[in-house]
Amino acid sequence: MVIQPATKACGGCHRYRVLGFPVDVCCDVQVAALDMHVSGGGRIVTLNAEMTMAARMDKDLGSAIINAELVIPDGAGVVWALSKQGVRVVKTAGIELAWSLLNYAASHGWTVALVGASPNVMASLKIMLFKRFPGLRLVFAVDGYQSAEAWPHLESKLRELRPDLVLVALGVPRQETWSHRVQKGQHGLWMGVGGSFDVWAGTKKRAPKWMCRMQIEWLYRLIQEPNRWKRMLSLPAFVWQVIKGELND
Ligand code: UDP
Repeated sequence: MVIQPATKACGGCHRYRVLGFPVDVCCDVQVAALDMHVSGGGRIVTLNAEMTMAARMDKDLGSAIINAELVIPDGAGVVWALSKQGVRVVKTAGIELAWSLLNYAASHGWTVALVGASPNVMASLKIMLFKRFPGLRLVFAVDGYQSAEAWPHLESKLRELRPDLVLVALGVPRQETWSHRVQKGQHGLWMGVGGSFDVWAGTKKRAPKWMCRMQIEWLYRLIQEPNRWKRMLSLPAFVWQVIKGELND
């Protein structure tokens, strides 16, 4: 079956739908992100099956995904669901896109903001980034465990700074809903990066390459963080919903 693209999302991308949510398939996702920066910025969401199922129950998360300028397939489940529509893609790992954007930011004088992760992770991350990218213009870096009273002031400060790149590691769904609310009217690229800060700071490990190649990165995460099992129960439900959708077509 060949499916027609729903809408054109950005240069070189086609927008498809998985269980009603947009997914952009781009020939080069970094180029798509840079194009987006040139044309006024926006939010990048990295979509996986777990998040898709959560968004069906959580209106705010759903709206954050539907209104994102770029939604990239970051999970074996979403890649599989696209293949059922005749669309062949490889998963774009959000952590890799975020790293390549940091690299670009450092070499092009972009201003960068980092929001999220624990205070210790943020402290190690800053040291690591300044070593790795000596020219990085880091204008804002706050951990994700601020008091409720501190957030409004931090959000205003962030908006005043108008960074070119804002990486948000507050976990799903908060990083998406928070960015959706705070980014409005801002230029620059805003991206939810989940546990990427922990990986870059060295407190968590990414799955070995062979596991990524076999698309079982989720299994590695489950072994590392067994308390994720409840969240992963949504995966069979995702598969069933995709198959059910196909049967009803
Ligand atoms: N986090 C945070 N504030 C919170 C809850 C979580 O900054 O109130 C951070 C957490 O320290 C971690 C990231 O958000 O760095 C979430 O990582 P996870 O791998 O759980 O991401 P997800 O799978 O939810 O995208």
